[in-house]
Amino acid sequence: MKKIIITIDGWSSCGKSTLAKQLAKSLGYIYIDSGAMYRAITLYFLRNHIDWTDNYLVQSALQNIHISFVHNASTQLSDIHLNNEHVEYVIRDMVVAEKVSEVAAIESVRTFAVAQQQRMGNEKGIVMDGRDIGTTVFPNAELKFFMTADISIRVDRRYIEMKQKNPHVSIEEVRDNLQMRDEIDSTRKISPLRMAEDAILLDNSQLSMEDQLQFALNMATEKIKQL
Ligand code: C5P
Repeated sequence: MKKIIITIDGWSSCGKSTLAKQLAKSLGYIYIDSGAMYRAITLYFLRNHIDWTDNYLVQSALQNIHISFVHNASTQLSDIHLNNEHVEYVIRDMVVAEKVSEVAAIESVRTFAVAQQQRMGNEKGIVMDGRDIGTTVFPNAELKFFMTADISIRVDRRYIEMKQKNPHVSIEEVRDNLQMRDEIDSTRKISPLRMAEDAILLDNSQLSMEDQLQFALNMATEKIKQL
């Protein structure tokens, strides 16, 4: 059966990765979390005290960064590795979340990440989520979604998730972080967060996860049939 590329873009904490994972599992596709790549680069810069306002330092640091996605047999998903270290969890910390949008706005960082993302899509059969996947990374993808949800719902979801790892995190901190990232992501010069013209808008504020998956899956099977 022919395979397609499915892109899922949208605001922070809309449930993009939840849908992308379920969709990939149902279709037997690979799921790639593009945000994890920007988070891993940010983690490297923070750990190595790279001044990312200096383009020369950024360019040379990028040469020392190797990002890979390694299959995890227990989750059946790919975990991100930074220079062969498993960093799937540490990249979700607030220290990384606070800086990732700044780092992701840098041109050379995006060129580096987008090149790898495009290589991963060569074989199709992939679901990738992020901010610019349908617009910049795979403008010719067969199926594109753009997700949104009410800000209060997004804050509550992310707060519950972050609280499990860090009991000291406050809801205000989570809300400020989401709003800051959305603002930087949608106003940056290079590949700002935008809905692609041919994307399907998916507001999941009132949708159950099952209904959302069923809707997306129906769209995907229709597309695949048409090939
Ligand atoms: O998806 P996630 O929230 O983990 O992404 C973290 C950050 O990475 C986003 O807030 C955004 O700044 C950046 N990002 C991006 N382009 C993508 C995916 C993520 O700029 N395709």
